[in-house]
Amino acid sequence: MSAPVTPPPVTWTPEDTEVVECCLCGIPGRLVHDLAPFGVVRCPSCGLVFISPRLRPEALQRLYDDVGYFEGGVYGGGVEAGGAEDGASSRDRRFDPAMLLQRTWTAGRLALLDRVRGRSPGGRLLEVGAGYGLFLDAARRAGWDTSGVELSRTGAEHATGTLGLDVFCGQLADAPLGPGFDVLCAWDTVEHVPDPLDFWRTARSLVADDGVVLFSTPYVSSLPARLLGTRWWTLKPAEHIWHFTPRTHAMLLARAGFALTRVVRSPLAPSNAGRLDSLVGVARPIPR
Ligand SMILES: [Zn+2]
Repeated sequence: MSAPVTPPPVTWTPEDTEVVECCLCGIPGRLVHDLAPFGVVRCPSCGLVFISPRLRPEALQRLYDDVGYFEGGVYGGGVEAGGAEDGASSRDRRFDPAMLLQRTWTAGRLALLDRVRGRSPGGRLLEVGAGYGLFLDAARRAGWDTSGVELSRTGAEHATGTLGLDVFCGQLADAPLGPGFDVLCAWDTVEHVPDPLDFWRTARSLVADDGVVLFSTPYVSSLPARLLGTRWWTLKPAEHIWHFTPRTHAMLLARAGFALTRVVRSPLAPSNAGRLDSLVGVARPIPR
């Protein structure tokens, strides 16, 4: 039985931060909320909301390497760091509300994938931001030939070591992946990446022309975001450094060579179950 891991409390200082510009327009944003040492800003040209100043890459890597990173969120202790699970506790966790939600999303997202493709599972599927590998493991069981990329060492080690998945630990651009994926999934990932335009362009280079992209992300035009302001629970300025709306995300995707073809916002849809401030998007490559 391993002891619970408590991450050290982190206080970020201005020295940990850097100022960035809008990834679409290359201009500074205007301050919306001062959350020193961070700022929530909006691009005066395109309306994209982002964090500036934000954590420097080294500080961000320290955050994701922290073994406690996943434990406070939806993963809520559902998987133990390092994969040291004993049988009894992993059986109990199946009924953990956070794990039930994870399973609902996974099943709903695999079903959505089949619906948008109009055929049964099969082919090459890449998940970017694979976490502990729960979705990828289910996709593999459904019949997909799976690959993953994950920045957190703890997550990637669980996915490869315990689940035997093919998961590269690092940034998408550095992953040794061949092109021609039938499906690329990115669940709650694009809001974390240093440059979302770069991210979707790399994704475009990996997805087949007749492939499909499925993703989820919080959205800043959601009711909770608009009503709660700085108290919006998903604001998290250290980690969530880009905040999209369906409109700004469609612009971003178009610039990277994708058309946003579907947006699921209902918290009643299994792929987005219980999420009032997040959406699931479907995008397809624009023919070159
Ligand atoms: Zn802009």
